[in-house]
Amino acid sequence: MEFIKNFKSELIVESPGRINLIGEHTDYNMGFVLPTAIEKKIVFQFAKNESPNKCQVYSTTFNTGFELDLNTLEKSSVEWENYILGVLNEISKRTNKLSGFNCTIESNLPTGSGLSSSAALECGLAFGLNDLFDLGLSKMEMVKLSQIAEHTYAGTQCGIMDQFASVMSQKGHMLLLDCRTLEYKPIPINLEPYKIILLNTKVSHNLATSEYNTRKNECEEGVAILKQDYPEVNYLRDASMAMLEGVKERISETVYNRCSFIIAENKRVHQMAAALTANDLETVGQILYKAHEGISKFYEVSCAESDFLVEFSKSNIHVLGARQTGGGFGGCTLNIVHKNAVDDFVNAATQAYREKFNIELDAFEVKPSTGTFSYSN
Ligand code: ADP
Ligand code: MG
Repeated sequence: MEFIKNFKSELIVESPGRINLIGEHTDYNMGFVLPTAIEKKIVFQFAKNESPNKCQVYSTTFNTGFELDLNTLEKSSVEWENYILGVLNEISKRTNKLSGFNCTIESNLPTGSGLSSSAALECGLAFGLNDLFDLGLSKMEMVKLSQIAEHTYAGTQCGIMDQFASVMSQKGHMLLLDCRTLEYKPIPINLEPYKIILLNTKVSHNLATSEYNTRKNECEEGVAILKQDYPEVNYLRDASMAMLEGVKERISETVYNRCSFIIAENKRVHQMAAALTANDLETVGQILYKAHEGISKFYEVSCAESDFLVEFSKSNIHVLGARQTGGGFGGCTLNIVHKNAVDDFVNAATQAYREKFNIELDAFEVKPSTGTFSYSN
């Protein structure tokens, strides 16, 4: 197939990754999260082509592309194509305004690193097509259809956070999002003289999708038992530790641990929002360490590499707190580091990590940034 990589682009879309300061795995439990978009992103170029139904999509990240037909949007055996096909499938259900287009994707957002490149890909595509074909979709419709695409075509039963953060974020703020009502409040964040430094473990254990879905099922198992005594509990978001203690005899230790993590994590989101508002940076850091302990021991979605880096950060007095961020089993750790100590911390962590795992980690600062935007070329 002859690929048209250098077509004249009509529209550019910048679609960011995200970090989540706190509230891990609480989104599909209908609880609270505190994410923001970051400066690393996927950039799309779009143009209509002459065809009523043939489209070409090329990823410069993977140096490969594919052609698709809007009339036959079946799942592909190639993983990344499914994010594209899934979004097109959802858009096609809502409108018949799509026609042939070409699209190229460039990215400086690491994939499979817990920064939600998948949501950036889905939402950026939806955003671009909305503009290109004047589909009239609202931001929230694009967020929701992208989430559904990830369920149906990519097979991850994700919550709403990643897509929401990628699209809705505001510069200099975290978003305190209620994943049930989708009400949100931008919380200004000013960590001066500290910075948010991410350490990319460069590992992406392939457990991530299957274990993610298993965790979701375990939470639902907990809810089913809680509901016998507390009919008002529809999601773990509705449960308290006292309720969980009340049914402890009837649930497995594993399910108890999963539920207790979610209940505590959901509380931590509010504690974190309050600590940010009060500019209490010590507490911000302590909450992160506490959260990582839960991620590692009770929710069991960490791994040796993430645990090592979080432990390592504890030995440095210039780091206020750290935890693995994202769905789990690798990806990045998020660290709150004094601006004067960043280089030393990164160098020491790089060396220690290399000695232990023989892997070169990647370190970079992130700043709370604006969500998806587009402009004509
Ligand atoms: P994360 O969302 O944390 O980055 P996921 O496993 O959910 O990890 O999503 C990563 C997948 O998204 C990649 O394996 C790939 O299929 C797709 N993807 C992300 N960025 C790109 C890109 N620039 N080009 C093509 N596919 C991409
Ligand atoms: Mg993802």
